Amino acid sequence: MIDKRHRGIEYLRISVTDRCNLRCAYCMPEEGISCLTHDEILTFEEIITICKSAAKLGISKIKLTGGEPLVRKNFIELVRKIKAISGIEEITLTTNGLLLENQLEQLVEAGISRINISLDTLDRARYKEITRVDGLDTVLQAISKAAQHPKVQIKVNSLIAKDFNENEILGLAELAKNEPISIRFIEVMPIGLGRALKTISKNEMIEILEMHYGKLKPYNEKLGNGPAKYYEIAGFAGKIGFISAVSECFCEACNRIRLTANGYLKLCLHSTKGLDLKKLLREGMSQDELTKVMAEAIASKPEKHHFGEASGSYIEDKIMSQIGG
Ligand code: SAM
Ligand code: SF4
Repeated sequence: MIDKRHRGIEYLRISVTDRCNLRCAYCMPEEGISCLTHDEILTFEEIITICKSAAKLGISKIKLTGGEPLVRKNFIELVRKIKAISGIEEITLTTNGLLLENQLEQLVEAGISRINISLDTLDRARYKEITRVDGLDTVLQAISKAAQHPKVQIKVNSLIAKDFNENEILGLAELAKNEPISIRFIEVMPIGLGRALKTISKNEMIEILEMHYGKLKPYNEKLGNGPAKYYEIAGFAGKIGFISAVSECFCEACNRIRLTANGYLKLCLHSTKGLDLKKLLREGMSQDELTKVMAEAIASKPEKHHFGEASGSYIEDKIMSQIGG
């Protein structure tokens, strides 16, 4: 559907859990986090009902995320059910990759066509420092296995921040050299624990890459549903992408809405504005009524994020694993 600012909204990111098997320093505290209870989290039936209304409103693409989506019990069954909804054309997944290798075949068979795997370092000790788990080898193995799967497209997402891992940019870019894997460098956003890190801009990252590889060539074909801008490096099998929400605001073309694990329809990552769909469903709202209130909410999607502002009653103050990344 089209919102009041003439943006076509066709993409829903669903957080299926706020739990995670990692504790990335910019996303979740190491200890003391209280996760949603079984009753608080949306059931599969509730997620499906919401997806059916979303599909009626023209949402055709679903991304499953979290927390870590692969820790949710019977996740593959959920993928299958969403895939069966009329109007849903594509289901994709964002994962830290730790549990991916064993589930890959079933995920693809259930309908996942693209997988984004998050990886911020290629150094084993640094991986453990960032995520608090010694899991680098497992993730690299999952990337390698997924890259060879004929029916799934892989992207690696690397959050880059100053004095955190900008020295890894060249090494991470090499992942796109021999395999048709796109690597996307993500500017850290001032959300949750990410506020403690310093953003390094897309232009600064390009400078680092160009010093080593020469001029990057813009790649203008569409690759996925997101705001990433892609470039080519001569001789590389995959593309190099940048998601630069901070240095190049792309809100004007934003095509997405989000559903949190506890059933809140979020109209913007950085805003608390939205609708408590779980409450409405548990009060007995019908599918048709749900579609109507979702249409009204989506139409009023906020104009843009407010990353530059320190505070405001509508500014999201939750951590990323609770919002759904
Ligand atoms: N657990 C899964 C994973 O790590 O891919 C899915 C959820 S995670 C929150 C999704 C993505 O959000 C990850 O790639 C992570 O690096 C990114 N992320 C978390 N906090 C961020 C921040 N403040 N700015 C930019 N990206 C962030
Ligand atoms: Fe977990 Fe993903 Fe957050 Fe890391 S970024 S703690 S893997 S939800």
